[in-house]
Amino acid sequence: MSLLENLQIVHHQIDRATHKWNRPNSDINLVAVSKRQPPEKINYALNAGHRLFGENRVQEAYEHWAAHKESGLYPDLKLHLIGPLQTNKIKDALGLFDVIETLDREKLARKLGAAMKEADKSLPCFIQVNTGGEPQKSGITPQELPDFLRFCRDECALDIIGLMCLPPVDESPSSHFALLRKLAEENGLKHLSMGMSADYKDAIANGATYIRIGTDIFGPRIT
Ligand SMILES: *Cc1c(COP(=O)(O)O)cnc(C)c1O
Repeated sequence: MSLLENLQIVHHQIDRATHKWNRPNSDINLVAVSKRQPPEKINYALNAGHRLFGENRVQEAYEHWAAHKESGLYPDLKLHLIGPLQTNKIKDALGLFDVIETLDREKLARKLGAAMKEADKSLPCFIQVNTGGEPQKSGITPQELPDFLRFCRDECALDIIGLMCLPPVDESPSSHFALLRKLAEENGLKHLSMGMSADYKDAIANGATYIRIGTDIFGPRIT
């Protein structure tokens, strides 16, 4: 299967799901997750006209994207950071990414706010919510969310546009997607980043506005 066909299939599935759930197609933003994919596949995706990508590591994102961004050939290219951000990588992240999806702790919020102010930038951010309360997973608990949101906005001047989650692998994702949606509604947030290759139709049913698809577009990752 070629990457172009894969992209068409995913778009078709998005069309079907939005139609089924009576949502406008334009609600769904497809983040193509290019982590651990070879450069030639990234080039295919760009040639196919795709412009919104996600990466989970800052260093690898530079290897994949710095030259494309600097080339000026893709002025509408947008990159989302979808993996954990260490505070010592904040400056680098601000130099490349357009959106941070993984705001998951106070220390990061404070340092990110300060770094954006210094760089005179204001990147939109998602707060990552640990909907499953998993100890090994990053994210704010649902209970902490209202206070954390206030902290991010009032004390760190961050532009919070929505919530992001990664449901536990061994559970049905629907209840987690529904919880994230409820939390977004309660807190007046517009965007929901949820759903990956295995469960994006479910996520669309539950109100996703950003879906993050790697394997279904690019095929299996290297390593
Ligand atoms: C890798 C990754 C994805 C994409 O996963 P696929 O199952 O390949 O679609 C989505 N979101 C995050 C946070 C990821 O790390």
